[in-house]
Amino acid sequence: MNKEKKLKAIEQKISAYVRSRINKMPVPGEGSANAKIIFIGEAPGAEEEKTGRPFVGRSGKLLTELIETKLSLKRKEVYITSVLHWRPPNNRKPRRSEIEQSLHFVREILDAIKPRYIVTLGNTALNTLIDDKLRIGQVHGIFIPVGSSIFFPTYHPAAGIRSPVKKRRLLERDFEKLKEKLS
Ligand code: URA
Repeated sequence: MNKEKKLKAIEQKISAYVRSRINKMPVPGEGSANAKIIFIGEAPGAEEEKTGRPFVGRSGKLLTELIETKLSLKRKEVYITSVLHWRPPNNRKPRRSEIEQSLHFVREILDAIKPRYIVTLGNTALNTLIDDKLRIGQVHGIFIPVGSSIFFPTYHPAAGIRSPVKKRRLLERDFEKLKEKLS
């Protein structure tokens, strides 16, 4: 099976699981099967739940802007997903038990795409995929090689919206670092 077909099959499997087992709108992820970079957030919000697409609300607008202006890439050239593939009730943080249900899907996506860079957005993705004791304030903007991929933790774009001066600048600087590494 080629990469595109493999990724589509995983997305369909996630959607079927979320519909039948969680009874929610699935938001598996979207983008290129040949992406060099994958972005992994926390969990879908209201806009994502409406559309079934990741990062299409306010945080998504900032993420898309950073991808386009700081990395000179189109959104469709990267892959975007979240640790959880459905919206938790009342927009709360995902619980450990929920993450356990969806994490193997994230690993399948990573295994299908084999991206060079894995950009974790915020503490949930950092703690789930890299180390559960680290905080984003300590390790954002650092390249962490693991096997044939390089993890790159940065702030969740929602932090950049809440703190348009401090956190947004840090996010912009992290994306500039990533761009330097890419070129
Ligand atoms: N925040 C996330 O972490 N993921 C989304 O898809 C949207 C907002």
